Amino acid sequence: MAKADIALIGLAVMGQNLIMNMNDHGFVVCAHNRTVSKVHDFLQNEAKGSKLKKPRRIILLVKAGQAVDDFIDKLVPLLEAGDIIIDGGNSEYRDTTRRCQSLKEKGLLFVGSGVSGGEEGARYGPSLMPGGHKEAWPHIKDIFQSIAAKVGTGEPCCDWVGDEGAGHFVKMVHNGIEYGDMQLICEAYHLMKDVLGMDHDEMAKAFESWNRTELDSFLIEITANILKYRDSDGTHLLPKIRDSAGQKGTGKWTAISALEYGTPVTLIGEAVYARCLSSLKDERVEASRSLSGPKGVKFSGDKASFLEDIRKALYASKIISYAQGFMLLWQAAKEFGWSLNYGGIALMWRGGCIIRSVFLGKIKEAFDRDAELQNLLLDSFFKNAVQDCQESWRRTVSTGVQHGIPMPCFTTALSFYDGYRHEKLPANLLQAQRDYFGAHTYELLSNPGHFIHTNWTGHG
Ligand code: NAP
Repeated sequence: MAKADIALIGLAVMGQNLIMNMNDHGFVVCAHNRTVSKVHDFLQNEAKGSKLKKPRRIILLVKAGQAVDDFIDKLVPLLEAGDIIIDGGNSEYRDTTRRCQSLKEKGLLFVGSGVSGGEEGARYGPSLMPGGHKEAWPHIKDIFQSIAAKVGTGEPCCDWVGDEGAGHFVKMVHNGIEYGDMQLICEAYHLMKDVLGMDHDEMAKAFESWNRTELDSFLIEITANILKYRDSDGTHLLPKIRDSAGQKGTGKWTAISALEYGTPVTLIGEAVYARCLSSLKDERVEASRSLSGPKGVKFSGDKASFLEDIRKALYASKIISYAQGFMLLWQAAKEFGWSLNYGGIALMWRGGCIIRSVFLGKIKEAFDRDAELQNLLLDSFFKNAVQDCQESWRRTVSTGVQHGIPMPCFTTALSFYDGYRHEKLPANLLQAQRDYFGAHTYELLSNPGHFIHTNWTGHG
């Protein structure tokens, strides 16, 4: 019997497809699922026996949370020092860090890997973001890079991310960025539909043509297909779908991390809130009967040129979103002492995952130009791109506001840009207010680092 290269636990959508992918690439996989007897058989006959090559490599693709800890507890007594447990689920990065620490004490290696691309990605090439104990990497690199998506001249969308929960942190930010990209496309759709009065086929054509521009990406492509799609009765399906968005939580985790580390990842935050607001469907139906928006506003400009404005607003906002996402990665790296390869991360997202796009290749190039780049907006390519889009972006936002269209992500992106590019913000007043009511002290521009207090109600 051929010795298995790797064992996989969790035979739901992701697990099954990853097995087929690994088989395609010549790896022998032994597969197992939750059922107690099957797990027992596996632990007795496979992991403990000789069928699995050493060091044993076991990947878990089970529901994130307790199920991962339960399986780890079952595996530990049956493994030897140097064996490797990989968690490919959507685990919270702090859980991964905790598991790294506890398995290290037991002499085992642990890898928390982001796996993106859904069913299709798992089957034909996902984006893989492994992190944890780096000593495990040489033992799993071949399998991981073989089954990962490939871009360009065959570069795999998988590389070592960093220590502890770094792989899952990067996956979490990826998911947050996915929330942002999706919401930006929804805002463009809303403007096309309600300001320009475009029908579904016109909008599909617009997205198809946008997919031949800088916006070339999986999400733009599927949006065109969704807009075109007709139900069995011959009418478009999209307008019949209830406008109440669900979420599984990784976007929210990104926003929470951003708040925790004090990084202004405003666009992802707004994308999460936009889903929350959408889910108040019944309340909105009520409110729509009593609250009014602007009256008598009709678009009277040139349709084609405003459509191009929307495209540029989307592109500029997307640049802001990725700039913010990388700011969060940068902050987390600082916080946890991870050394992250930002260009490598862009390459990992370039293919195989939901946010795959040509645009990510440009981000990779920016970090190739300067590995220490402080902010994407300061890279010459992105600086010029935003500059080129700026007038369109402002026209889109102001026209949308006049028409009463909610555009939380377009607007927050523009506010962030305007905030980031201002040497002076009104936070001087904020500091004065804090000092006034709470004696929180402030610094003078002329003497930074030196905090003083003023008795604002005193005389002289
Ligand atoms: P899933 O629905 O998240 O999880 C189902 C798998 O977990 C099954 O094997 C199930 O066993 C096992 N499981 C659930 N609760 C368990 C428990 N308490 N104890 C032991 N096993 C338990 O499956 P999935 O969609 O394939 O996803 C697997 C992982 O990949 C998840 O962490 C998910 O978040 C992540 N992920 C999913 C996608 C996607 O597109 N689906 C994309 C990226 C990442 P039974 O068969 O016995 O129920």
